[in-house]
Amino acid sequence: MSLAGDPIPRSEGEDPPFSARLLDWFDTHGRHNLPWQHPRTPYRVWVSEIMLQQTQVSTVIGYFERFMARFPSLEELAAAPLDAVLSAWAGLGYYARARHLHAAAKAMAARGIPDTLAHWLALPGVGASTAAAIMAQAFDQPATILDGNVKRVVARHAGIGSPIEQAATIHRLYDCARAYTPPNRSADYTQAIMDLGATVCLRSQPHCLRCPVAGDCVAFIEQRTAELPARRVRPPVPLRPVRFWWWQRADGRVLLERRPASGIWGGLWCLPEIDGLRVNPQEALPTAVPIPERMLPPPRPSQSHGRFAHRLTHFLMQGEVFTAPADAPLPVATDALRWLAPHEWADTGLPKPIRHYLDAQGMPLRETSMHDHGSL
Ligand code: SF4
Repeated sequence: MSLAGDPIPRSEGEDPPFSARLLDWFDTHGRHNLPWQHPRTPYRVWVSEIMLQQTQVSTVIGYFERFMARFPSLEELAAAPLDAVLSAWAGLGYYARARHLHAAAKAMAARGIPDTLAHWLALPGVGASTAAAIMAQAFDQPATILDGNVKRVVARHAGIGSPIEQAATIHRLYDCARAYTPPNRSADYTQAIMDLGATVCLRSQPHCLRCPVAGDCVAFIEQRTAELPARRVRPPVPLRPVRFWWWQRADGRVLLERRPASGIWGGLWCLPEIDGLRVNPQEALPTAVPIPERMLPPPRPSQSHGRFAHRLTHFLMQGEVFTAPADAPLPVATDALRWLAPHEWADTGLPKPIRHYLDAQGMPLRETSMHDHGSL
């Protein structure tokens, strides 16, 4: 028996290694029909890994298939306008991923698709675990991944009890994950450990009795699955009120404003924020120009058009939309302001709650509560 909190020694003499048991299980129970596995090209694996960074497989599948239908090759993605990429991404959240994907596609179109870990790491939006997953899955090279699911498996199996967000813990997890990684069948092993985390070693109530590595799993042996991996206690999510203008012309077009490249919903089109956006003049995208009408008197409660609630990563947005005064001059369209007709909304990169709000316009307004990750 290991000391609590120390990785349990692998029982090489008695059981096959961790990786051998996991690969045996994967051959029968793993996921072999994910769309990015057929064909498993570097381009498709890369796009899927970026999508999977913050989003579950079940959600990613539909987005991935639509994205591939729209941008079947690296060249087509690199040549597309950023708006088209953001539009295809809308709803997946964490929009910086789409901006980085587009920037990386342009870099690869010019210099070629990398085939080393170091070159993948040099691309925007590709961190250590993503680069490792690409090398393993697209090139079958041994590489150690450590996404959220794998952290949970390793922390439990090795009995690592320190908070999972700490840098020292992540180093320990990497050391263990590296020791578990086999020298061959890298693509299968990488998929196998992700599948184990997603389908067996669940966050709550893991299915330990059907787990191939339960025999030497510290959390299982010591009945600590509920407490591992340990997390910092998070403070309650703060509320943040945000006010928007509802500006609609007689022909039905609605005024939308492009958000600054960084920050919440970066680069997406949104109802204009009444209190304005913090604009960074260094940003590459055209940013929201001052709307003279923002100088209008603050909206009165009688101008309320509707409300929505939306959970972002670090706060709960309490959105309230106000009808612009009928006698205010209509803002003129610019690079960062557009009057969009309803049939154009579908092809415009809109944050999910704003799309829902627009879709519901003209209908009785209701509180909406949605969760995606629109930040950064
Ligand atoms: S035995 Fe249970 S806790 Fe341990 S790795 Fe398997 S599913 Fe996770």
